[in-house]
Amino acid sequence: MDYGPAPESDAEVRAWLATHKSSFGHFIGGSFVTGAKQIDTNEPATGKLLARIADGSKKDIDTAVSAARKAQGSWEKLGGHGRARHLYALARMLQRHARLFAVLESLDNGKPIRETRDLDVPLAVRHFYHHAGWAQLQDSELSAYKAIGVVGQIIPWNFPLLMLAWKVAPALAAGNTVVLKPAEFTPLTALLFAELAHKAGLPPGVLNVVTGEGATGASLVEHAGVDKIAFTGSTEVGRLIRKATAGTGKSLTLELGGKSPFIVFDDADLDGAVEGVVDAIWFNQGQVCCAGSRLLVQEGVAADFIKRLKRRMGKLRVGHPLDKAIDMGAIIDPIQLKRIGMLVDKGVAEGAEKFQPEITLPATGCFFPPTLLTNVETSSTVATEEIFGPVLVSMTFRTPDEAVMLANNSRYGLSASVWSETIGLALDIAPKLQCGVVWVNATNLFDAAVGFGGYRESGFGREGGREGIYEYLKLKAWAARKPKAVQRVAAEAEVKPNFDEPALDRTAKLFIGGKQARPDGNYSRAVLSPSGKIVGEVGEGNRKDIRNAVAAARAAEGWSKATAHNRAQILYYMAENLSARADEFASRIKAMTGTSKAKSEVEAAIQRLFSYGAWADKYDGAVHAPPLRGVALAMHEPLGVVGVICPDEAPLLGFISLISPLIAMGNRVVVVPSERHPLAATDFYQVLETSDVPAGVINIVTGGRDTLLKTLAEHDDVDGLWVFGSKENSASAEKLSTGNLKRTLVDHGLATDWYDTASSEGPVLLRHAVQVKNIWIPYGE
Ligand code: NDP
Repeated sequence: MDYGPAPESDAEVRAWLATHKSSFGHFIGGSFVTGAKQIDTNEPATGKLLARIADGSKKDIDTAVSAARKAQGSWEKLGGHGRARHLYALARMLQRHARLFAVLESLDNGKPIRETRDLDVPLAVRHFYHHAGWAQLQDSELSAYKAIGVVGQIIPWNFPLLMLAWKVAPALAAGNTVVLKPAEFTPLTALLFAELAHKAGLPPGVLNVVTGEGATGASLVEHAGVDKIAFTGSTEVGRLIRKATAGTGKSLTLELGGKSPFIVFDDADLDGAVEGVVDAIWFNQGQVCCAGSRLLVQEGVAADFIKRLKRRMGKLRVGHPLDKAIDMGAIIDPIQLKRIGMLVDKGVAEGAEKFQPEITLPATGCFFPPTLLTNVETSSTVATEEIFGPVLVSMTFRTPDEAVMLANNSRYGLSASVWSETIGLALDIAPKLQCGVVWVNATNLFDAAVGFGGYRESGFGREGGREGIYEYLKLKAWAARKPKAVQRVAAEAEVKPNFDEPALDRTAKLFIGGKQARPDGNYSRAVLSPSGKIVGEVGEGNRKDIRNAVAAARAAEGWSKATAHNRAQILYYMAENLSARADEFASRIKAMTGTSKAKSEVEAAIQRLFSYGAWADKYDGAVHAPPLRGVALAMHEPLGVVGVICPDEAPLLGFISLISPLIAMGNRVVVVPSERHPLAATDFYQVLETSDVPAGVINIVTGGRDTLLKTLAEHDDVDGLWVFGSKENSASAEKLSTGNLKRTLVDHGLATDWYDTASSEGPVLLRHAVQVKNIWIPYGE
């Protein structure tokens, strides 16, 4: 017995293509608009021309952005309920045309019809339904927020329709309008979607599709009329986009690459885990950002597991994507095929052993066999680079700790699979993995209610769930902020040499690793009153001091593991100790700033510490009930080490407002206090010393904001950066932090009202102090 061919008909797709003469313009303002230049899109399975599409120019992008801008006001004014009805209509439209979408996607991308039919299309439908719900609930659940405006969305070729749904559904639900740039290899389902959405009543200009190459995407990123960019694709292009948007005020989410571990413990159901591997790395030919591409097997079962896996690989069927009985289809393009081959050869050259089963591949077209590389060194190219093809690399480990170490030995952090029949072990490992999604005894599960996104260089922001809808909203209180009054920057002359002079005994030192420390350069800077009188001196921190502070913060890892109850107690303790010295702080603030509000500032700072003590054990995650037998736990995890640049306004309250949410959530901070009025923060050392704050949790480095900011932004051991300073500070924070893709929160030089709780207290900041990890736990026998 063997499989016969079971082809799905492509007649409906061919008919649709024929109505367009297999030639497409952009979809702008509710109709197709001819582009000046055209490019081909081919069928990966046969190499044959499928259609010609427009290659979007700067002008096309401009036309699309104008159409989106024109439509945005009335789309937002339509209200949540009105938009919900449109999103429901889109979901139903997709369902009605499910087969057409599934076949078109298979032809354009080369992936098996089984996948497009059973996963891509149903999940896309689910995203529109789910987000119709968010639109409906916007007024009640998200009333402090409003739409961002016009959103530019750039998507890759591996899940063309699904990525459209992940991006378009939340954007439209929240009241934004969209200009979407699909990948040049796979533009057709987006064009079909736009056409049918218009027929389903979506107003013109709400969703615009501009096709083209990378340069078209770059024009969208650079367009001044775009308020947000949402990107999925390679880490390399993600970095370019981070740089291009830095300082522009555009909001940004990046969903980038991965090299995800698939961890098999010796007590795992080995046959189940083998099936898991099939879904992890041969699903969509391994062209999946969260593919389980690094197999880590516990030593005792490794030989057995690899044997079973090889046997299973021999049963995989590679063939035409429209054949309903195949497991793997075609690779997207000859360029990608060549790249996969080159990386496999490199792996072998670096010592790996290659296994490819003896299975038949189609004679023509873009096909690559399922491949297993064993004997792989942890540092080899194939173990570290994203291959983005059907290639699994395998390594072994002995203990759970070693598994975690190997799993985290990557610059990426998108997802992980953990296989063990001991739930205690699996749930002990899951929080230790540096990634945004963990599947326990499962892999590649997705749902619109469960956020998806990465840690580290896998990008930032989430798609799906409550955390995903926030990415398309802006806080009303922040939207109303005005530029700060121009602040005087401390002049060169105020920086004095020789820290050791007797007259400078009163000079406040730095606070690093729980101790007061002299600045490395032995320089100090004067702190002046508004009338120019010296009211004190502080240390002039430099790069070395920041590095020491980061090392201290990094070492204080215990804080991130401490219980929320414990962190709450310390925040309360800080509040009490500040309260005991309230008058002292008030007079210091008055001396530095001349404000008549010094007492109320201290009072507000005390209250804020109390508030975050209260929040510490309440801003917790959620339990989602996705449509499967199981749960997904949305855990709020700290970012790690976060740099904080404090504003000059409200020097104590601003400082407290920024560090408290971070430490409440388990982060460790390196803080640069107000450059102009730093003494409120240096006086705070005594509060820290008497409040049982563990060494290294809060490190304070005074000095010139620009220099210290640069070192923090470029430091690869800093995970996040909050900058509340000038517009230029925000721009350099975003630009310089691209190295390790830090999560940044910046004020763009706009004045935050630190006394207004809606602007500066609670979830508005706590949301930025955590990253959500979703742990999927299916259950049942
Ligand atoms: P890219 O990151 O280049 O492409 C993703 C999207 O961005 C596409 O729409 C692309 O357009 C567009 N784009 C390309 N350059 C720019 C730019 N400078 N500014 C704005 N947009 C741009 O990925 P590739 O398709 O080239 O694939 C290369 C590698 O990226 C893969 O081998 C894989 O490792 C990784 N990748 C990761 C994905 C993920 O989901 N994490 C998805 C896809 C790829 P166009 O297609 O027209 O070039």
